[in-house]
Amino acid sequence: MSRLPKGTCDCGNPGNPLAGAVETSCFIHYHVSFRRGIFSGGREVPIGKKLADRIKTLPPYLFAELDRKRNEVAARGVDIIDLGVGDPDTPTPEHICQAMQRETANPKNHRYPSYVGLLDFRRAAAQWYSKRFGVKLDPEKEVITLIGAKEGIAHFPLAFINPGDVTLVPSPGYPVYSIGTRFAGGEPYFMPLREKAAFLPDLDAIPAKVARKAKIIYINYPNNPTGAVADRRFFEKVVEFARENDIIVAHDAPYSEIYYEKAPMSFLAVPGAKEVGIEFHSLSKTYNMTGWRVGFAVGNADIIGALGKVKTNVDSGLFEAIQRAGIVALTGDQGCTDRMREIYRERRDVLVAGLRSAGFKVDPPPATFYVFAPTPKGISSAEFCGQLLEQTGVVTTPGVGFGEYGEGYFRAALTVNVARLKEAVNRILQVEF
Ligand code: PLP
Repeated sequence: MSRLPKGTCDCGNPGNPLAGAVETSCFIHYHVSFRRGIFSGGREVPIGKKLADRIKTLPPYLFAELDRKRNEVAARGVDIIDLGVGDPDTPTPEHICQAMQRETANPKNHRYPSYVGLLDFRRAAAQWYSKRFGVKLDPEKEVITLIGAKEGIAHFPLAFINPGDVTLVPSPGYPVYSIGTRFAGGEPYFMPLREKAAFLPDLDAIPAKVARKAKIIYINYPNNPTGAVADRRFFEKVVEFARENDIIVAHDAPYSEIYYEKAPMSFLAVPGAKEVGIEFHSLSKTYNMTGWRVGFAVGNADIIGALGKVKTNVDSGLFEAIQRAGIVALTGDQGCTDRMREIYRERRDVLVAGLRSAGFKVDPPPATFYVFAPTPKGISSAEFCGQLLEQTGVVTTPGVGFGEYGEGYFRAALTVNVARLKEAVNRILQVEF
């Protein structure tokens, strides 16, 4: 039994909690996990053979090779500039942190939280929706607290999808829509998001048979990874489509506050939307709270109720101190978000100008902190990101990691400061593709 260096598994992932103890598997990189089994009392248990099909059939971990390369390049002493991860680099605003410090000290918050979330938090979310979007919500029935939007999105299909059911999923898109579908036994049907169609899905191109069979359609604007926004007309079309085909709409809107032009609207602001759908929301990006894990879903009371039923049986709610700090975030001064938008705007302009001077045909995104740019002709997205990392130490994400239709693009996150972005651009300018 060999030992791995502390903090690594054999694929170099630094996040493996078991590493350093015994030769073992990596919980993050499924591709090598379980290959050897877990060491247990001197006997190898062939865990791999016992894996459920939903794990065995997970698509390959597309970022694994890039992660391995990143660690290899870093080990050579190269200064890595990481534009790969969509995780804000600036801290949670002080007034929210102070609220959290107060609330953790209060024993009232130390017990099991409510399954659906504190009513006060749900009221704050409803009030924020009313102020920001003009959407009226009943906090008792039309709002549910989530342990981050991801948790809600991943659990959502368990409420509606039976084996063989179909969901409509954007490609490129946030991978949890399709993986959540598959975990519930369903089958995602991928709707291409094409640049020439402003990265909106063409609902008319969905075969009638598929549309009739589908139970859920996922949409996400402002969009990860493309940075695209949707207008009222598109949301109206989605409501019409959902009504015609009897489909639930799940609009994922965690980037609604990261915009540079007109403030994006809520899907629920369109007449009829609340009859057919819900919206996922999050405090992660609006208030730099990715590590806190706090979000919520709002909209149709029956759909919210069904999601609540799943959650009641799989989790025990969100730490109430976090919800109380979340109330401070949602009801307090929103100037912190204005300032963040300005920070990202400056970064966006620096990166887009730099990429353009390096010959990339890229437009400034109207929203999100992602720049989604075409790779040079004839180079796949994985190849391009690999070469860029190898030659410059700049980490970007291959578009294909977000689905088949992301091929031919790469995503750069604006989550490093302007000086580092300028340095990244200088390095990119030295490379010939
Ligand atoms: N939806 C999209 C499109 C995202 O990009 C992310 C996170 O990056 C999430 C949902 C999850 O957000 P949260 O941190 O609230 O779980």
